[in-house]
Amino acid sequence: MSAPIVRSLSDLRGMVARWKQSGETVGVVPTMGALHQGHLSLVRAAKEGCDRVIVTIFINPKQFNNPEDYENYPRTEEDDARKLGPLDVDAVYVPDGPTMYPDGFATNVSVGGLTNVLCGAHRPGHFDGVATVVSKLFLQTQADRAYFGEKDFQQLQVVTRLAADLDIPIEVVGCPTIREEDGLAMSSRNLLLSDRARVWAPELNAAMEELAEGLLAGGDAVELRAQAVGRIERAGFTEVEYLDLRACDTLEELTSPTRPARLLAAAWLAGVRLIDNIAVG
Ligand code: AMP
Repeated sequence: MSAPIVRSLSDLRGMVARWKQSGETVGVVPTMGALHQGHLSLVRAAKEGCDRVIVTIFINPKQFNNPEDYENYPRTEEDDARKLGPLDVDAVYVPDGPTMYPDGFATNVSVGGLTNVLCGAHRPGHFDGVATVVSKLFLQTQADRAYFGEKDFQQLQVVTRLAADLDIPIEVVGCPTIREEDGLAMSSRNLLLSDRARVWAPELNAAMEELAEGLLAGGDAVELRAQAVGRIERAGFTEVEYLDLRACDTLEELTSPTRPARLLAAAWLAGVRLIDNIAVG
């Protein structure tokens, strides 16, 4: 059986009000659809942590800095509802564009600092779009907890900051990245890879793991990084946008993993932008 779909904000608010009146806790899992096991792992975490679970599906135009990327983004609503069926979620909230951004919409939520680097530096406006839609989803669902994947590590830090700064009474819960057997981080964008590109794609994660090991062994960071970039490019990636070692909390750049650190990368493969990140140490 497919999960129950809710399209209007007033229906959503009515449901949530009834749950809250009965003292039930509410979890939300914001997504852009094209659901895979990574998304479903967040839903399972939400089911474990909350009495009621809302999955949201909204392909947010404001977070795409490239209109073509928005057009090409996979749209698989029926499949998504089917995949959510066995997980027994309480609502799949699928608002349309005007529900989220009615005529006259003029507000932009912008998180400073954390958004100036990595994906923020390469995708102008992206995190404003994320922060704006996530603020709306937090307020619309009135959820007690929100589940986000470490797959989008910078996004996880940004939404955590946002909830704290705006005093939104929601706990942001980070969940581990789910990978294919060959190490490729699951992503809706993997659907856009050709069969050939799909074979090369795991080299990004493999090169990152090798680089992390080298850094932990005390190797030369500049040399190791250059080797990793070479390995990624030899695998057919056309551009490594960034491959950085950064502090987990502030995302400031590190030369060695002297404190909790993360290796983060974005690279283009056959016209598809893939991102990944792993803990170092
Ligand atoms: P998206 O639909 O790509 O906007 O992702 C929705 C949520 O799922 C975000 O919190 C992502 O970080 C999370 N997510 C996406 N891919 C994965 C994955 N492979 N493992 C864990 N979480 C993921």
